[in-house]
Amino acid sequence: MHEMSVALSVVDQVEQAARSGGAHGVRRVAVEIGELAGVVPDALAFCFGLACGGTLLEGAELVTRSVPGRASCAPCGRAWDTGMPPDMICAACRGGATELLSGRELRITEVHWSAPPAAPDLTPASRSEES
Ligand SMILES: [Zn+2]
Repeated sequence: MHEMSVALSVVDQVEQAARSGGAHGVRRVAVEIGELAGVVPDALAFCFGLACGGTLLEGAELVTRSVPGRASCAPCGRAWDTGMPPDMICAACRGGATELLSGRELRITEVHWSAPPAAPDLTPASRSEES
């Protein structure tokens, strides 16, 4: 399944970043998914849950944001939503020089992790000596 390899890659990248940041656990990961990236958000969320097992991301929440496909026509400058399956032919001039502006995104936009636990607070004991 395509989503499984994407999920494994996301978990791998986030775990490396979290480890180098000294994190003890990851709570939330946000990703942007282009409409034309060929990834189904629900399937990715399911695979993400499996891929997190036994890693720093165990139990983390995945937030997905979809990015609509947009294309523009070089000869006439028209821009439109491609939809899915993508409509890549300009309706105005039927030109063949179409540029894809967005919709193939697949990137991690946000990661929230928990910091290492703070050192035990010994203040109350030292206060009792003062009184
Ligand atoms: Zn055109």
